[in-house]
Formats: sequence, C-alpha cells, structure tokens
Amino acid sequence: MSWFWDLVNIEEFWDKREDFKKDRWEISFYCKDCKKLVEVDRPDPKWYKFICTICKWTNIVIWTEEGLKSNYKIK
Ligand SMILES: [Zn+2]
Repeated sequence: MSWFWDLVNIEEFWDKREDFKKDRWEISFYCKDCKKLVEVDRPDPKWYKFICTICKWTNIVIWTEEGLKSNYKIK
C-alpha cells in the first residue's frame, strides 16, 4: 500500500496516519464535487487515478470511510 501515501496529498489528514493504520486499510472514496462517498473507476491500472462514477471528474479524496465521514461531516 505504499502508493497510498502518494495519493494522500491532503494535509489535514497527515496527522491522522496513526488512526488510519488501525482501520486496516479499508478505503473509501469521497468526491469533493458530489460531496459524498462515491464509487470510482480506475481507467488505467498503471496509474493511480480515480474517476467519480457520478460526475466523471477526478476530485476524489481517498481515506477510510470513518475518517471521511467525520472530516466531511457526512451523516
Ligand atoms: Zn463526483
């Protein structure tokens, strides 16, 4: 999962790395445009690029579901 830290470029999450480990790498995807947890497409397995299946844009945050829900106040 070393690729994960290349993806996590959101400073607000950096101090939560320890929390993340406890979550056993269960990852969810949050679309900043749709403002909710979404499914994503990964068009090319060689690239860590994820596309929101709803708005087709790539404004995706990758984190644990629990972390996303608390950070973005998703109910
Ligand atoms: Zn979206």
